[in-house]
Order: sequence, then structure tokens, then C-alpha cells
Amino acid sequence: MSETYMQTAQGQFQLQRFPLEKNNKLRAWDAADEYLLSDVAPKLELVENPRVLIINDSFGALAVALHSVRPSCVSDSFIAQKSTIENLTLNELAEDSVQLFNSLQIPAGKFDFILIKAPKTLAYFDDLLIRLQDSFTSDTQLIVAGMVKNLSASIWQTVERLVGETVPSKAVKKARLIYAQADQQRPVTENPYPVEYQLENTDFQISNHANVFSHKNLDIGTRFFLQHLPEGNQYQQVIDLGCGNGVVGLIFANNNPAAQLHFIDESFMAVASARQNFECAFNGRKATFTATDALIDFAPDSVDLVLCNPPFHQQAAIGSHIAMRMFQQAKQVLRSGGELWVIGNRHLGYQSSLKKYFSKVELVASNTKFIIVKAAN
Ligand code: SAM
Repeated sequence: MSETYMQTAQGQFQLQRFPLEKNNKLRAWDAADEYLLSDVAPKLELVENPRVLIINDSFGALAVALHSVRPSCVSDSFIAQKSTIENLTLNELAEDSVQLFNSLQIPAGKFDFILIKAPKTLAYFDDLLIRLQDSFTSDTQLIVAGMVKNLSASIWQTVERLVGETVPSKAVKKARLIYAQADQQRPVTENPYPVEYQLENTDFQISNHANVFSHKNLDIGTRFFLQHLPEGNQYQQVIDLGCGNGVVGLIFANNNPAAQLHFIDESFMAVASARQNFECAFNGRKATFTATDALIDFAPDSVDLVLCNPPFHQQAAIGSHIAMRMFQQAKQVLRSGGELWVIGNRHLGYQSSLKKYFSKVELVASNTKFIIVKAAN
């Protein structure tokens, strides 16, 4: 089992990674969280009723430890928000001691402290800092925290360009903090996000928020999947699982006019982009768009088809266990005879993994890099 008690200047807190998984060996916080919490503790005491904004907290470690200042927390991840609520409850703290916002809603007003865990996607960091321009006063303290290996030169340059001069902390347990205060003379930067491209061989305009998978152009695996999507009247209730900008569900819907599509992603930006793209393509056609964790909201035996280009990471977790969990859940929600279609890199071996859950597993198409597999009960 993983360590679950985080000891910080603010106290001791029990923290878990949600969704809970058997044999999980990873903690729900890292050395960058610990460093940030110890660094900010004395600074918070110097400000009366400090206004604190936390961005990109992985599993709620920062929000839980700083609950007494009633922070606002912005995240693009449904799972991060759910983890924050679960971890508050685990520590018998009121849910409303923290105010949660999704990544498309920056809370209004100025903040004394803006605490950011450096995100994986630089475009998202860029977009956030641009949208935060009005949240800074000349006294706002920006602290960006991360493990040294994740704080690339581009992260530093982005802070310098969009906020002001940076000062580094020393490294502690391979974590580092970047301090900055807003340069009041900095020019106003226009936000390039969301970005658009025209989907090849179609008239569809695809809009992508900054944190969406392959937001600049069509991913080569997705392109291959689009060329082999199934067609037929038996596919009535269809899920685009891990939909990103929704192109898989969109092309399926175009080829199957009677199908009802359900777009699912744990990223709020992905779901917003999928909705925008679908509504723009099919004015008035019914579909659902939900930011949630995989298939937890679907009833057993309720779905005809699940289309999935599985993630390699979800939040701070990396690995094939996320895809495996999706396959397992797909088996539950598919009606008898329902199908799961999956695309993946050849080396991921999805064909043999799917055989653990499904009795019929068939290779639909392959090229030098990818395989498309159909699995049915
Ligand atoms: N379907 C899109 C495509 O083919 O371009 C995106 C595929 S991308 C490889 C995988 C997607 O899964 C990402 O958008 C990611 O946010 C999403 N994801 C990761 N974990 C998830 C979860 N637990 N539930 C739902 N979506 C998840």
C-alpha cells in the first residue's frame, strides 16, 4: 500500500488517489506539493484574509492542506476535483472550505497568492497565464511548483513572457519553485486558444481548447481510427470514450445518422471542445457531453458501441492500467452483442489485454504503428 499521511506545516492530512485502485503504490502528493506548502506557510501568515488561487492540484493535496484560507481551485480534471472532494471528506473537512472551478472558469477578482503546479501541456500553461492576467495585482505572489525534471526551460520562459521576472528556489528533494511578481508594464497578450483546424477530407472545423489531446492537428492514430469506424443500424447508443475534441464520435455520427452519441472525457476542456465541434457540425442533433471518469455514470447493458483511443496518462498517473479499467467498464455497460472498438500502438498489446475481458476479440485493421481491435461479449 502507498503512504497516505502527508505531514506539512499546516498539519497532518490523509490523502488518497481517486479512483482507488488495488495495489496502488503511488502517493497522492509529491515533493513539489510539500515544498510549496512549507514555503507558503509563513508568507500566508503575513497577509490578513489572504485570497489564494490554486491551479492544477493533482489529487487535492494543496487544497486540503490550505483549506483554512478557503482557497479557490481551478482544474481541467474531473478526477482531480473528485479527489479533492473525497480527500476533504476523508479529513472531515467541509466540502465548501474549497471553491472548485473548472479550467474554463477563472474566478473573478484579484488574488494575493497564485499557486500553480506546472502542467504537462505547455499550451495549457500558456493559456492559463494569459487568462489570469486580470487576477494579478502588483503584490500578487505567483509560485509555480514542479519536479525539476518537469520544469522545462519553456515553463520559465512562459512565466517571464506573460507575468514577469522569475526567481528560482533551490532544489529540495528534486522539486523546485519558481517565484514571480507581475510586471505592471507587461504588454497585454492575446490568447491564441482555442485553436482550429479543418478536419482533412471534410468541411468540419475542429476547435480545440489548449489542454486538448493533439490540439494542433489530427493525431496519426486517430486518423487511422477514422478510416475504419463501423457502420450499421444496430449502433444506437454509442459512446466516444476519452473523446478529446470529439472527432471520433463526430465522424461516426456523420456516417451513422440514427445513432445517439455520448461524449465522455475527464478533461473539462476536451468535453467543451467536443460539444462545440459536434454542435457546429450537426445543428440541433441530440448528443450528451459529460466530464466524468470513464463509464462510471452508465448503467449495465445499456450501450451498443464504445469507441476508444485510450489515454496513456490520466492526471499524474501514467500507464496501461487506465486503458484496462476502461475495457473492464466497457464490458459492464455494453449490452449483449455490443462492441468495444479500440485503437492503440501495436506495442501496447491491446489485443491480448482485451481477451481477459471479452470472449470475442478480432483484429479489424493494422498498419506499421497501430492496430484496431473489436471486442464483444
Ligand atoms: N479520442 C480523442 C482522439 O482520438 O483524438 C482523444 C484520445 S486521447 C489518446 C485520450 C483521452 O482520454 C484524453 O482526451 C484524456 O483526457 C482522456 N481521459 C484520460 N483519463 C480519462 C478517464 N478516466 N475518463 C475519461 N477520459 C479520460
